[in-house]
Amino acid sequence: MLTFNHYLTPKSLDEAFDALQRHPGARMLAGATDLLPWAREGRAGDVHLPALVDLSRIAALGGVSQDGARIRMGATTPIAALQHHPLLQQQAPVLGACALWFADDQIREQATVGGNLVNASPAGDTQPALLALNTHVTLARRESGRILERSVPLSEFILGPSRTLLQPGEILLRLEFDALPDHGVAFEKVGHRRSLVISTVCLATLVRLDATGKRITDLRIAIGAVGPVPERLADIEDLLTGTVPTPAALRDAAGRVADRVRSRSRQSYRREVLSNFVERSLAAALAHAGLDLTRLPKEIKHV
Ligand SMILES: Cc1cc2nc3c(=O)[nH]c(=O)nc-3n(C[C@H](O)[C@H](O)[C@H](O)COP(=O)(O)OP(=O)(O)OC[C@H]3O[C@@H](n4cnc5c(N)ncnc54)[C@H](O)[C@@H]3O)c2cc1C
Repeated sequence: MLTFNHYLTPKSLDEAFDALQRHPGARMLAGATDLLPWAREGRAGDVHLPALVDLSRIAALGGVSQDGARIRMGATTPIAALQHHPLLQQQAPVLGACALWFADDQIREQATVGGNLVNASPAGDTQPALLALNTHVTLARRESGRILERSVPLSEFILGPSRTLLQPGEILLRLEFDALPDHGVAFEKVGHRRSLVISTVCLATLVRLDATGKRITDLRIAIGAVGPVPERLADIEDLLTGTVPTPAALRDAAGRVADRVRSRSRQSYRREVLSNFVERSLAAALAHAGLDLTRLPKEIKHV
């Protein structure tokens, strides 16, 4: 069971840092969809905290905007916004594809993107899509009364299961990632059942084609839930970028990824699924970008 002495709802970053300073051992929360099950279902035993600091009412942690070729998204943005926010739908549709398979409507309204990253579950579904978007996270701390920020790539932020670069007293402020309106996208996820499920394998693919609509000019594939941290498949990205893809080339790429499975459980299942997901998501993302390989003549070569 979770018990606490104080439940604090700061309205500004300064108030949040005040609260954390006044109550050593306090815990932050945003949507509490990880925090509550962690405390309630006995994983952490009985938890008593001096204070809970609810970040959800701090305006500086919300909002979605565009700054040139990058999108800024506050840490307390709910997962539901990934599906419904017009700017995200247009500039980063892969996030909507990923949110579609995330929990259910109620959890998506409550759960936040920041919570998903700080919780750093290997099965965190937003991680592969955000990694593929070259996301940086901005962290804030207060020193001598001044709020200081640092920005780190998401690829460095998550260190392992439940471990991140976040230092005690630091707050995840926002995410910044590439605006990619012209990329075809695909997101794949599988778990023990069809819905409300923790990923056993998940994967995000983004692809851009040249003016002819046939050659790949940019490819990003990131995988999650098959190891301690999400990963980009840089070798597959390099292999296919600059080529005119064929069904055989996609199959060949898929055959190269089995060794990326590092989870200790369900290894052979995960290997098979990962390989199938790579092939299927490449085909789906290419089709989304306008290249339907099933209709291509056989003589188009992988060059
Ligand atoms: C029924 C159910 C289904 C779920 N399904 C999925 C799913 O399909 N896919 C998936 O990936 N996850 C799923 N989850 C897990 C959870 O919903 C997500 O990880 C969610 O994004 C966590 O966000 P939150 O705001 O609720 O985090 P919280 O529980 O509020 O916080 C999680 C951790 O992050 C810290 N934290 C939060 N925000 C900040 C911040 N801005 N700065 C510093 N620290 C912060 C908190 O202190 C805490 O340690 C599910 C959970 C439930 C209960």
